Amino acid sequence: MAANCIFCKIIKGDIPSMKVFESDKTFAFLDINPLSYGHALVIPKHHGAKLTDIPDDSLTELLPVAAKIARASGAENYNILQNNGRIAHQVVDHVHIHMIPKPNEQEGLGISWPQQ
Ligand code: 5GP
Repeated sequence: MAANCIFCKIIKGDIPSMKVFESDKTFAFLDINPLSYGHALVIPKHHGAKLTDIPDDSLTELLPVAAKIARASGAENYNILQNNGRIAHQVVDHVHIHMIPKPNEQEGLGISWPQQ
């Protein structure tokens, strides 16, 4: 945990979030400024700014959890995005994977998030 990290504070519950998944190593919540309905962030509990700062065992769950959330969102179309460094558009310096649904305009999304 890093004292001044927004996402560490979210994991601890010091900053409220819309949690959609939690395990020993991983936390996921809805993005505060979503690019689409259901835009979620999947983060390791281990603090580190970039993928290259995190031990392998803190990374292994991230993609499976993003897939679980994508499945639960009902989205048939979605983007998985992961930024490292300012030039690569990273704003929050705690590793995170974006899961961004691309809803079917006519049918929308039947989201029923997995809660743990
Ligand atoms: P980045 O550009 O670093 O890949 O994306 C950071 C993301 O974190 C942005 O999409 C932004 O909306 C989201 N974000 C920043 N602060 C907060 C916050 O306090 N709560 C939540 N839920 N999302 C946040």
